[in-house]
Amino acid sequence: EVSSPEHQARPVSAPRGTELNTLGWQQEGALRMLMNNLDPEVAEHPDALVVYGGTGQAARTWEAYDGIVRTLKTLKSDETLLVQSGKPVGVFRTNEWAPRVLIANSNLVGDWANWEDFRKLEAEGLMMYGQMTAGSWIYIGTQGILQGTFETFGAVARKRFDGTLAGTITLTAGLGGMGGAQPLAVTMNEGVAICVDCDVTRIDRRIEHRYLDVKADNLDHALELAIEARDAKKPLSIGLEGNAAEIFPELLKRDAPIDIVTDQTSAHDPLAYLPTEIPFAEMKQEAQRDPQLFTKKSRESMAAQVQAMVEFQDRGAEVFDYGNSIRDEARKAGYDRAFEFPGFVPAYIRPLFEEGLGPFRWAALSGDPKDIEATDRALLELFPENDHLRRWITMAEEKVAYEGLPARICWLGYGERHRAGLKFNEMVANGELSAPVAIGRDHLDSGSVASPYRETEAMKDGSDAVADWPLLNALVNTSSGASWVSIHHGGGVGMGRSIHAGQVCIADGSELAAQKLERVLTNDPGMGVIRHVDAGYEHAANVAEERGVRIPMTEG
Ligand code: NAD
Repeated sequence: EVSSPEHQARPVSAPRGTELNTLGWQQEGALRMLMNNLDPEVAEHPDALVVYGGTGQAARTWEAYDGIVRTLKTLKSDETLLVQSGKPVGVFRTNEWAPRVLIANSNLVGDWANWEDFRKLEAEGLMMYGQMTAGSWIYIGTQGILQGTFETFGAVARKRFDGTLAGTITLTAGLGGMGGAQPLAVTMNEGVAICVDCDVTRIDRRIEHRYLDVKADNLDHALELAIEARDAKKPLSIGLEGNAAEIFPELLKRDAPIDIVTDQTSAHDPLAYLPTEIPFAEMKQEAQRDPQLFTKKSRESMAAQVQAMVEFQDRGAEVFDYGNSIRDEARKAGYDRAFEFPGFVPAYIRPLFEEGLGPFRWAALSGDPKDIEATDRALLELFPENDHLRRWITMAEEKVAYEGLPARICWLGYGERHRAGLKFNEMVANGELSAPVAIGRDHLDSGSVASPYRETEAMKDGSDAVADWPLLNALVNTSSGASWVSIHHGGGVGMGRSIHAGQVCIADGSELAAQKLERVLTNDPGMGVIRHVDAGYEHAANVAEERGVRIPMTEG
């Protein structure tokens, strides 16, 4: 139930330009970013207020949405609006340094933290699912997944291949909504990719959107193209129609020269993974006819695929799980070596988290793409020594189409983010940017999430499920001057499996904004550093010492 006669679903898009619809830019930023999340160009199902990620909503109902908008329009610069699971519930007098909006979404007491209880409360109109950036109003469309995948393959390159995938072949499967970012992320890192999907329309769609280069006629053709490009050190992505559970073992049997192996089929849902015995055309029907039998067959096929992945690793390939639970499904089918290759966070992303690195992002409230181009240039001037950043920004300018308000994402760490924020604020002040900028991040960040199946899998000290960290993160950002702060439960991996926090700051060119930005954009990634120092990571300890992060238990 998301609309009533007086509060109908309707297309929404953020106002552009420099005219205020509210009493200040902090409030205006929240208003525009909420509206931008629901822009049909940005949101997956805007009528149902769903932004992305299954059922991740920006507001609980259209009535609640109208209430938030109405309140933001009259909210004073020393007041704070409270939002509980997508519904505005109170306004309090606070002070200018306090956030203009405080958000809590989908949080449940431990014993009730499951989908069943949540769905009951949702049906009674008491809650909504906020995902990560849906309910905290800082989603920027598919640029986010492309950049995250680029970052992962970049980390693989740094770990094993001297910083570039040039001259290597990656084998993966799944060219769906998110997995479809893999071919472009590999070629952006200068590598060659063979991407298997059983649905040829997914291959064609990725070629049409320029995320994939070519389609091979068959397996021999795919290998031929891959080896030729690899030897010429040319980036190339190749789509191959087929079942990964057959192709992976076949490539292994042929001793194909594969350097990196992963997978992004929808393995988290056995009814969405095609078993080898079933033709693709009959997949839906068979899954409906006998879900139990289908599950058994798809798990057996996943076991065959995972076995090939493990044996590629035995032969020296770099192999990892890309967050789709394929290892656990293969284990359920009785394959006991499934967990011999790691998940992508402990394998590549954690060392970045140790430095407070994570998905920093910003949106131009003007709506003018020239503002993002100017920030791109400013960033490359600020960090001239960062080749990886240069490669991403240059490629993004060329390949990424804006959805909704023009936006950019890139990974920056402790000691970097506040420099970028201050620079953007200065550019607003001196007119280089035509309007203020909203600066935020994903909740999938270095010190803002507890999620034992993903971001905090296999922490060194076993603290995977300790959720004090994201709560402290929200509190410190609230104390440091963020424009809005959120605490969510269940994003990414579902109910009962994660607790996470978000923050957004508005760079409006004022001196006050500069003071707030400096604190928030230092302390927020600083949480990532201290969290990893506390868990015993040496690199984090070095970063803390070099960059002057105070850790009481290492002093005195
Ligand atoms: P999707 O459903 O849009 O796409 C899955 C694709 O896999 C489809 O194109 C389907 O045809 C193909 N497929 C299914 N079975 C196959 C088989 N046996 N052989 C070859 N192809 C097969 O899903 P998506 O949004 O792309 O996400 C894919 C998976 O990756 C999900 O499990 C998701 O949770 C996971 N994921 C994880 C992260 C992360 O942790 N970083 C990020 C994104 C996605």
